[in-house]
Amino acid sequence: MRLCLTVFIALAISALCSGGAKRMTPEERIAIVLRETQPLKFPRGERLPLYVWPAMDLPGDEAQVEATLKALDARGIAACASWHPGKDQQQSLERALRMSAIQKRLGLRVNINANACTYSICDGSEATAHLDADGKPFFDTSSEGRKLGCPFRLQHRYPAMREQVDFFCRGYAEKGIEPSFVFADWEIDGPIEWNGGWDAAKRCAVCRKNIPKLDDFIEFQKAYRRVRSEIQRECYASVVLKHFPKALVGNYGVYPHNGWRYWYDYFEGDAPKGCPVKTDGRAPYRPWADEFKDCGYTFAMPVVYTWYRIWSWYDWPQGNYRWFYALLLEVSSVGQATPATTPIITFVHHTTTSPPKDPDPAVKQFSPEAYKELLWHMLLRGHDTFFLWCPDDEIAQEIRPLHEVWAAALEFREFLDKGEPVTFGVPKQPGPVVSAFRLGNRLLVRRTDFTAARDAVPLKVGDKALPIPRAGAKCQVLTLPE
Ligand SMILES: [Zn+2]
Repeated sequence: MRLCLTVFIALAISALCSGGAKRMTPEERIAIVLRETQPLKFPRGERLPLYVWPAMDLPGDEAQVEATLKALDARGIAACASWHPGKDQQQSLERALRMSAIQKRLGLRVNINANACTYSICDGSEATAHLDADGKPFFDTSSEGRKLGCPFRLQHRYPAMREQVDFFCRGYAEKGIEPSFVFADWEIDGPIEWNGGWDAAKRCAVCRKNIPKLDDFIEFQKAYRRVRSEIQRECYASVVLKHFPKALVGNYGVYPHNGWRYWYDYFEGDAPKGCPVKTDGRAPYRPWADEFKDCGYTFAMPVVYTWYRIWSWYDWPQGNYRWFYALLLEVSSVGQATPATTPIITFVHHTTTSPPKDPDPAVKQFSPEAYKELLWHMLLRGHDTFFLWCPDDEIAQEIRPLHEVWAAALEFREFLDKGEPVTFGVPKQPGPVVSAFRLGNRLLVRRTDFTAARDAVPLKVGDKALPIPRAGAKCQVLTLPE
């Protein structure tokens, strides 16, 4: 079997090197994942696996899929099967079941990409449109040209949306295969408060009637997010949990937080005038509604990507700290707001994300060293594992540092499994950054420096303060004084 897998990888890589095509085959993607990562040195125990987008719908016959699953599992990496509703849904179900059945037989988690099942409640039909004062239908087309409808005219779509998920859940339940992780990437669909969303709502007689304080952005956002949460709960989360009550179910970008969002998605333009942003340097952080609980999700799925615009928000000459700072604000907001019983599975992406066609050469890429430090701080602020998203041509460079940190952290599994984060502080200026996990009277600490400062920095732990020395790119295990 090992020989078979080696030949399979070699063939896929040689095809890749000679081809030069941008879009890779599933064989090529998985070959890079296996080539760029090593089997784990420290056991994973009960910790969640590492999720990576290229490990999706594994190719090959049953023997090949089994060999690939085993090779991935040796590295702590999980594979997901996708559900695609629509005219070919029976084939999609059978294809997904084939891989999931092997996972079950091997004692691995059954992981599902349900993204396609969550689109599109806004199907562009007139019955979903906003209505102007004359009763004339119109859409908000300001987000990637999609025909986004009125949040108060979508309820008739719920049964059909629910069925897209239920069909696959029934198929799995009938075979006795229980998904333990189900995720979606539902973003540009349903009512959205950004881009021209607020203007559209103000023009709509139905929105006006349903949102008494429509001219107050916060009230408007709450109303829109309430409907978005209802859609996710009624058409997705509750459907999965009805069949599989123990499943982790979640969606890209939905997670507990401190009321602010420190990043903009690729399709989100500047916050509209009248939105009470919080200014920090040139950064306009946006208020964000509390939607996680309402959605009924059982794991948090934050997004920690190096969005292009972040770099220009601050003036520090230490370019790395511009990325690190904004991302650590987001990391800390989620880590602090999420109960320890709710896993945090964070989407990550290192390479500058969503740059324009002609990027400003002044915008410097986040260094791999600083990115790896950020990953450590994420783990020490309560993020349980990562989910790598990246385009095909970045798989090698993205998975290497990610897997390296994630696998190395397993050496400290006892801390991460049983301990708790100590601090969520984010220094306002480049300098030493400290994160720590406490287990009894011991601390697992990471200190990362962005200046030449040599002094120890005090870390407050309960009513005590512990000096944290500079230690280079490694973790320290310290003991609290009596
Ligand atoms: Zn409306």
